[in-house]
Amino acid sequence: MSGADARAGFLHRRAIVEAIVLSPWLLLPRAAPARQGASNRDDHAAPRAALIAELREQSRDDTGSATRIDPAVLAILARVPRHEYVPASERKNAYENRPLGIGYGQTISQPYIVALMTTLAAPRAGQSILEIGTGSGYQAAVLAETQAKVHTIEIVEPLAKQAAQRLRRYPNMQARVGDGYYGWKEHAPFDAIVVTAAASSIPPPLVAQLKPGGRMVIPVGSSFFTQTLLLVQKDAQGRVRTRQVLPVRFVPLTGGP
Ligand code: SAH
Repeated sequence: MSGADARAGFLHRRAIVEAIVLSPWLLLPRAAPARQGASNRDDHAAPRAALIAELREQSRDDTGSATRIDPAVLAILARVPRHEYVPASERKNAYENRPLGIGYGQTISQPYIVALMTTLAAPRAGQSILEIGTGSGYQAAVLAETQAKVHTIEIVEPLAKQAAQRLRRYPNMQARVGDGYYGWKEHAPFDAIVVTAAASSIPPPLVAQLKPGGRMVIPVGSSFFTQTLLLVQKDAQGRVRTRQVLPVRFVPLTGGP
């Protein structure tokens, strides 16, 4: 299994190296083998760029609003290989702006929602972040790209194991199986908490594990209808303020009391 992970990391690095090293060759006549090789290995570059352009366009309309996406977050999505976080059967759809099935009745979130939740959580290098619902590991990877210390919990064991393998490339990542409703006391308090499954109400243990000045992004509502993405902020005095961001649809948060 570590071989698969090493290979994924290797392919990722190789794609970057080739983009730099091989591109002059594409200009040469009779460079067919190089061109074909490059396109085979970098099939995802064009759809990924198109997705980022779409998100940038969508965000431009939102200037000044709560649903605006931070350009630095878009730059992260432009370099995280979403196709490595989905099952092989969904790889061709990896750069569509929609959720995809990852097995066990769970989904990898829509890229726009990943970008928005990351923007709202506003992680900074060195900060301590908690994610509930590792799923595919994609949102965790996006958070880790900010160089924050990311702690992520998944309740479905096979998903947790698979994601932990994928995320081994990030030294600033800790992933474990468990019920995220109760947070991760040993690493609390957190600068930000990102919950990627819908809770019926805000779990009190998560509020307790938020630092003063911290931010939690969480979808709240009934299982499949009328959920709202909330931004929960704790001020320096420990007072909690909640702001509704937009209607969303997430798989339910299980576990809890
Ligand atoms: N962040 C994920 C989204 C996965 S969907 C991604 O980027 O792919 C939400 C995930 O939350 C599912 O995998 C589900 O199993 C998990 N989940 C649901 N309830 C949970 C709980 N109480 N604790 C931890 N994970 C939970």
